[in-house]
Amino acid sequence: MSGSSIWHPFTQHGLGEPIPLVIRAEGAALFTADGRRVIDAISSWWVTTHGHGHPRIMAAIADQAARLDQIIFAGWTHEPAETVARGLRAIMPDALTRVFFSDSGSTSVEVALKMALGYWRNRGEPRHRLLVMENSYHGDTIGAMSVGERCAFNAAYEPLLFDVGTIPFPYAGQAQATLDALETSCREGAAAFIVEPLILGAGGMLIYSADTLAEMRRICAAHDVLFIADEVMTAWGRTGTLLACEQAGIVPDILCLSKGLTGGAVPLAVTMATEPIFAAHCSSDRARMFFHSSSYTANPLACAAAAANLAIWREEPVLDRVRSLAARQREQLAAIAALPNVRNARALGTITAVELGDAGGYLSDLAPRLLAFFRDHDLLIRPLGNTIYVMPPYCMDDRDLALVYERVADAAGLA
Ligand code: PLP
Repeated sequence: MSGSSIWHPFTQHGLGEPIPLVIRAEGAALFTADGRRVIDAISSWWVTTHGHGHPRIMAAIADQAARLDQIIFAGWTHEPAETVARGLRAIMPDALTRVFFSDSGSTSVEVALKMALGYWRNRGEPRHRLLVMENSYHGDTIGAMSVGERCAFNAAYEPLLFDVGTIPFPYAGQAQATLDALETSCREGAAAFIVEPLILGAGGMLIYSADTLAEMRRICAAHDVLFIADEVMTAWGRTGTLLACEQAGIVPDILCLSKGLTGGAVPLAVTMATEPIFAAHCSSDRARMFFHSSSYTANPLACAAAAANLAIWREEPVLDRVRSLAARQREQLAAIAALPNVRNARALGTITAVELGDAGGYLSDLAPRLLAFFRDHDLLIRPLGNTIYVMPPYCMDDRDLALVYERVADAAGLA
């Protein structure tokens, strides 16, 4: 365990919980300084797709480090970024012609919101109202929090958050209410609608249908409201396809990608946009440029990792691995779904989730007890309140997967 001055994210230091010191990772396993092998059942916060330390990604970073570490990206470019942009254009929907780099899922969302507002302003039709879905999570910067659910995560910052229009979540049997609310809000005028396609992650792994997603896209298009797909969690095979949007047969106007963009090895994000959105910013008038950057935009080492990830997607049977993991996850889930205390078992692609007992809410005291139980049993799982989800790297083998579900079944007894 480490005793240090570090202030950790989403960690209540006042509880005095131990903070394991990790010294190495490989595939689906983390190794701690005190000699434990811990199974990473949540892909280190949903980023690790192929597995930790994928040799091609590690080699690409090392190779790039020997040549070019960092270069300003405003008005300059470099080969790894160009390779990533070409690679994304080749596998992402054709209509998404432009690639804007940033550093995290939250910044990809900030960029998306700014692109949407810039688009309308530069067209001389300033629209600024943003529509969002209830229970959403889009990150922890001010704009990303503003378009997310108002909850314990952001209560202290409420005075800084801007007003948005919130569409109800399409719980089973209630999709029409969602669509009607979206239609009404779109008719009243809005710049954009931002949504997590098919599954709301931090909001509780809430799944909704591809039909509803397709219909939401149709409504936005009918009212000229830009459709922003936040695929920060859902892309790169997580939901069973490269993009979750594919399952609804839709293409957004703006697409946010991060996490698995580098296979989960190093931070990087992109926001992809259609040509009209780029064109609205492209002019001889400098006042219409897209005013966004950060020091490390398109860092070459991160781009080299992303380029290697794209090569893996082109050359290795990634979707076969995803399908295999998804099928094995469903089998394991079926075995625990009927246990006493286990409710609402659900699965989408490589993600499964259950609720334990009735003690809901992110701040329920069940969560820290579950966290401690999993930590004590050499498992990395972070419950969302009483929701336990499993989201492994695609390389997880049967033995580790069975162990994960055995422990989840044991944890049901704690609720
Ligand atoms: N959007 C979604 C859907 C997410 O799940 C997350 C993070 O979990 C984010 C945005 C924010 O990403 P980051 O933590 O990299 O800023």
